[in-house]
Amino acid sequence: MKIFYLQLKVKPTRKNEKYDLVEGALAHCWIKETNPQNTLAKAEFFVSKSDWEITGVEDYPIEVNESNFSGKDLGTENYLKAKSEGISIAYVGWSRDGKTTAGPFQLKQSYKFPISEYIDYQKKLSQKGRCLHYENGRRCNEIIKAHSIQKNQSLSAIAQNGHVYKISANIGFLKKNKGRLTYKKSGINKVSTFLGFCKRHDNELFEPIDNDLLIPTDQQILLYSYRSLCRELFVSENALELVKNQLGNGVNQDAIKKMLSGYVNGKSFGLKNLNSHKLEYDKSLRNKSYSDIKYVVFKSRQKPIIAFSGIFYPDFDFLGRQLQNLGDYSRDLQLITFCSAPIEKSWAYIFAWHQTSSNVCVDFMRSLATKAHNDVRSLGDALFRLAITNCENLAISPEWWDKLKKDNKEKIADRAIYWADILSVTEESYLIDGLEGISDWKFEKVISNMD
Ligand SMILES: [Zn+2]
Repeated sequence: MKIFYLQLKVKPTRKNEKYDLVEGALAHCWIKETNPQNTLAKAEFFVSKSDWEITGVEDYPIEVNESNFSGKDLGTENYLKAKSEGISIAYVGWSRDGKTTAGPFQLKQSYKFPISEYIDYQKKLSQKGRCLHYENGRRCNEIIKAHSIQKNQSLSAIAQNGHVYKISANIGFLKKNKGRLTYKKSGINKVSTFLGFCKRHDNELFEPIDNDLLIPTDQQILLYSYRSLCRELFVSENALELVKNQLGNGVNQDAIKKMLSGYVNGKSFGLKNLNSHKLEYDKSLRNKSYSDIKYVVFKSRQKPIIAFSGIFYPDFDFLGRQLQNLGDYSRDLQLITFCSAPIEKSWAYIFAWHQTSSNVCVDFMRSLATKAHNDVRSLGDALFRLAITNCENLAISPEWWDKLKKDNKEKIADRAIYWADILSVTEESYLIDGLEGISDWKFEKVISNMD
């Protein structure tokens, strides 16, 4: 990511004795982002969140580097802060005579986000178990911690003394600074689990993938895909409930209220789509119509370095073409799931979708084939890029991560911010390039039942 610099014209929204001199001020913003549009949106949010009214743009975002601020202490300091924390803003104002500069200073933000309450409620929600099995009912009495990433051979294959790295929960956007994603070591019994199935249903349903290696059979693929979907449904319901609860408790700060309401709208739309996809999966499982699942499986002979399970609505393909507009709430979204799975001698990367999503998913997979055809070495990089960018349910091998160069670790952390960042709009080119030469992935074989 790059660092952009811009200046906004601002005035304080509240009377404040200390700053009564201020006629107006400039907000100097340094922001780590991928493009000027996202930079401007982010600057506007953070400035209005701090109780300033934006009256205009003095200078639009331009890309900068450290040398642009050489000899300027304030500039260099803020540039470096943005580089490590994602964002830095300094407010500088003038006195009434128009000559004296005041600041840099901060207004004290009037609204304090109740972070500890938020985290408590988040925890409470995640402990509220429910069985998502297609035949759930009264007999689902013993909800267990179900693994969403295959545990026996997949998570354990990358673990070191029973531990893996995972991305730590991010609530950075609620804090003063955006924060940075960090990777923390966790025991594999805690990673990727969710209270989404009862013991009986979990054991019965997932038996063909929990105890057997991937062959693959249609049934196995359908089960992997279903589990990714159910996990997403579980965390999305919780996330939505969490933010709705927060709004219900009263948020008296317009910028934050607007941001949270936007989040609720987007999340509700996503969840509505997830629920209708789940009904299709439920039907196929109930009828044992396993061939309703379509897939592409890439087999590797290398030692796995990550294990993951995720879903997304493909918006742009590997060539940067738009497949569906995620902002158009009047249309249904098509869904793809992807995960890692153990195979004999090593591991595989699975893409799978229900045939009702074939329109978008076939085009998506073809774009990957075209990319790999043009440059065969780009396949491993493309698959790695996708997993890191679109999947927060991902575990990393400590043995691999600890040996990784610092700048590669930073590149991965910057990428992983994408999914966590609700203020950024996805760039159409986000799957075209990035993270080259880090995974060193090669795939020996491709298996598919795609028409
Ligand atoms: Zn059950």
